[in-house]
Amino acid sequence: MKSNGQLKIIHKKDLNFWQKIYLTEILKGIKLTLAQVFRPKFTRQYPEERWNPPASFRGRPVLVEQNDVERCVACGLCARVCPALAIEVQASESEYWKERYPVKFEINMLRCIFCGFCEEVCPEEAIVMSQEYELTFHSQEEAIFGKDKLLVPVEKLKDRLEFLRKYR
Ligand code: SF4
Ligand code: SF4
Repeated sequence: MKSNGQLKIIHKKDLNFWQKIYLTEILKGIKLTLAQVFRPKFTRQYPEERWNPPASFRGRPVLVEQNDVERCVACGLCARVCPALAIEVQASESEYWKERYPVKFEINMLRCIFCGFCEEVCPEEAIVMSQEYELTFHSQEEAIFGKDKLLVPVEKLKDRLEFLRKYR
């Protein structure tokens, strides 16, 4: 090696007997492994051991159902803001307290990126991110969730709604 214009010779240190057979290193490795065995575990045996997410978790979006009617007034803001174009809303006139209701409301769960923009923009707290994270489909058609799969009673979404009122 050259240093300040001069040639510097570095002699490599020879390994001793114990270093040559790597025994001490193997023992160090075994010691480390055994120490890990008795440390507290952070993994869980899913699906037997399920995880209950906190209220801040953004699972699949759902529609809030109150007194057997969806809160949604079919304004279409969520569909407009959705970056993945996953929402389709068709409005119709309503006989209830609101003027309009969604005669068709669909979310394509294959497109949804769980961003929560729909929840953020909704003026009625009618669409929220749930705590559901298990989604399986056998076809592309199955991934399109209509009102039958999207509507969830407001009582089951209390944690999320409270979280939104507190931190939004
Ligand atoms: S869910 Fe909310 S934002 Fe979307 S159409 Fe219904 S009321 Fe409007
Ligand atoms: S969470 Fe985001 S991607 Fe999914 S439906 Fe709502 S706005 Fe669209």
